[in-house]
Amino acid sequence: MNVPAIAQKTFVEMRNRLEAMELIQFLLKKLNKNHDSVKRARYVHRIVDELNDHIFQDAKVKSLSPCASGCSACCHTQVSITSDEAELLAERVREGVEINRENLLIQMAVKNSSQAYYALSFAERKCVFLDTDGKCKVYEDRPSVCRTNAVIGEAAQCDTSVEIKPTRLIKTPEADLAIYASFLHSTSGGTLPYMLAKALKLTDS
Ligand code: SF4
Repeated sequence: MNVPAIAQKTFVEMRNRLEAMELIQFLLKKLNKNHDSVKRARYVHRIVDELNDHIFQDAKVKSLSPCASGCSACCHTQVSITSDEAELLAERVREGVEINRENLLIQMAVKNSSQAYYALSFAERKCVFLDTDGKCKVYEDRPSVCRTNAVIGEAAQCDTSVEIKPTRLIKTPEADLAIYASFLHSTSGGTLPYMLAKALKLTDS
């Protein structure tokens, strides 16, 4: 399944709570009824946004978070996506969104290995969808994991150009459970470049 680590951790912490299991079951039922992968991905994104909203709109969180348009530290870290999200991103590429194909080849070669990914240079780790202004070219269709990435604290802690530093992500438990459900439902999951390359049929391994 390659569930993102934060979502997996939240699931383990909350699996004995009735409301957590009810949320996962509700989402699995909805996803089972939908037979279109692109629509499923967008449905999960809408749910994740709704579950996150109260946190990201909180005045105190806003005042303590350095996250801003153009900051792209999170876009140089490994992102896990579902097969549905891979289909959605592949559709955007087929529609004409240009990607950094050089980085795609480099990143897809490491497949799902985080060790090999973080051995790449900062430039090589740049997401294939990041533009030259540090903005996401598929922002409205960015993966669930990207939607939950937010930091509390100093912007300096996000400087991953020298070495990987721990960042304090805002905890979004309900959204994490929705992400967990989406991976549970998905036929496969893995890193963004590797899953995208498979969806674009650039690799079959
Ligand atoms: S998909 Fe967009 S938000 Fe997500 S890592 Fe890539 S550039 Fe950043």
